[in-house]
Amino acid sequence: MSSAPNVYDAEPIPEAARSEIDRLLQSGDLFRYTAPQDAPVALLEAEFAELMGSRFALAVSSCSQALFLALKTLQLPRGAKVLVPAFTFAAVPSAIVHADCQPVLVEVGDNYRVDMGDFEAKLTADVGAILISHMRGHTSDMDAIMALADQRGVPVIEDAAHSLGTMWQGKKIGTLGRIGCFSFQSYKMINAGEGGILVTDDADIIAQAIIMSGAYEHNWKKHPVVHDRFAHWQNKLPLYNTRMQNLSAAVIRPQLAELARRVRDGLANHDYVAGLLNGSPWLDVPAPLLPETRAPDSIQFNLVGLDSDEQAVAFQEAAMARGVSVQVFGLSENNARAFWNWQFIPGEMPDLPQTRAMLMRACDVRLPARLTRPDLDYIATALIDAVADVMAEPRAYGT
Ligand SMILES: *Cc1c(COP(=O)(O)O)cnc(C)c1O
Repeated sequence: MSSAPNVYDAEPIPEAARSEIDRLLQSGDLFRYTAPQDAPVALLEAEFAELMGSRFALAVSSCSQALFLALKTLQLPRGAKVLVPAFTFAAVPSAIVHADCQPVLVEVGDNYRVDMGDFEAKLTADVGAILISHMRGHTSDMDAIMALADQRGVPVIEDAAHSLGTMWQGKKIGTLGRIGCFSFQSYKMINAGEGGILVTDDADIIAQAIIMSGAYEHNWKKHPVVHDRFAHWQNKLPLYNTRMQNLSAAVIRPQLAELARRVRDGLANHDYVAGLLNGSPWLDVPAPLLPETRAPDSIQFNLVGLDSDEQAVAFQEAAMARGVSVQVFGLSENNARAFWNWQFIPGEMPDLPQTRAMLMRACDVRLPARLTRPDLDYIATALIDAVADVMAEPRAYGT
């Protein structure tokens, strides 16, 4: 008899992390700047930069802090507008507010990607930066976005928190914009509990980010970076102390070798379940854009023909009764991915009918790379049966 798979448990951390953690605990050497060289955090930065093909990397305490530092390095005037997709996680517009900028939310289509018409309309002369959040690893049209941004001379930051391993036109997501930011929080491809990293090819940006992350005095000398930029910025920038500590790096480094497998299995799992769900007349998994090769660890799909919120809620409940947890983004109270809950954004909440409609029918199901075929079959069958149950008697749920 099959039972519902557990989609919350993480993979074990590779064995290699243990001896390194033990060594660090023995020596007590946890601060990244104590060792003269080769601290675990510094090694992680070198390895991650190499993996991404970027000149520079800076490891920090979270992706949100990486986004904040990235914005600060742009030296924008207070109150500058920053375009950001309206489908993202609350911490992303929060980073913009934290950097004393004004988030401008851009409409997102029912394929979870930036609406280019709304983007172009909102890309006015007073926009200081563009922060593209590849939410749930869905890549927006980066060719169109980069072309418009370059034309207007507006820098692009990529929130690639959930896109490690995703490719666009054969290039790595997170390396298309001026700065790319990734997360090592537990629900991402690489799990350190918490952590983030920023990559860039720009020596001036990395020098600022390193200092602001907390490389006080001459600690920047431990970074293999063009050092004349540091002389320029020395003592001119505030320190936010968002450093990563060595234990986190020790947990992350051995997982870099697991990334290719996780990406491959995650995509195969996703596409298998997508094929099954698309067989239901009431479920639709939007196709990726053509230049995109995804690296998913969850699946998103839209409810089709479920016209009332009550039907969508009934679907969530019918799936839960089968042991599968589905979240319709806009139907759970206080959801951090529903833009109307971001009341900390100064000014009036914009009307974003397209994004709102998407959030009211878009479903989210975790699909970690370690799941087996029977697990995937269980999940897909539960979802298909749940929606069929609801639609067998649609009027019971108030059309
Ligand atoms: C997880 C996530 C974040 C936040 O990352 P943290 O490391 O937890 O700060 C930001 N954006 C997206 C798209 C995410 O998935």
